[in-house]
Amino acid sequence: MASGTDSMSLSWRIKERAGFTTVEFSGEIDENTDFSELTNRLTGSVVFHLQQVRRINSCGVREWVNFVRDLPNVTDLTFAHCSPAIVTQLNMIYNFRGGATLRSFYAPYICDDCEIEEEKLIDIASNFGEGKEHDPPEFLCEKCGEPLEFDDLPDHYLAFLNEV
Ligand SMILES: [Zn+2]
Repeated sequence: MASGTDSMSLSWRIKERAGFTTVEFSGEIDENTDFSELTNRLTGSVVFHLQQVRRINSCGVREWVNFVRDLPNVTDLTFAHCSPAIVTQLNMIYNFRGGATLRSFYAPYICDDCEIEEEKLIDIASNFGEGKEHDPPEFLCEKCGEPLEFDDLPDHYLAFLNEV
């Protein structure tokens, strides 16, 4: 780790499950991120867990797009638990997902009264099925019980769902 910065290079944990593989990513994606080990190793059905990816710089976006575009032995790819940083890229970079199916993502919510900010996990299929409006699901504040407010512009934050 470089001294004087709070940067945290990307790491991952691979777990072999029955019939599929999960990869849990953690840290930041930048020009130093080398995906070649993963490219060679991943086969079959693969699920990326992306909750702990907190930041991606422009060079990192390029590395990522090249990585997900060329996974020769992966038959199907799913992105799950996408962090707000991932959602931002999904909204801006049209091929950020490669051929992946999106399963779930985190969205920012807030209770003004309690000054509580929370990221809530949203399952795409059960909340944004075909023919449904792209309204963010409602969550209640755990402290006061009132509905939390969506802490972004829904049309902006949820734009990537138009391509799901
Ligand atoms: Zn509250």
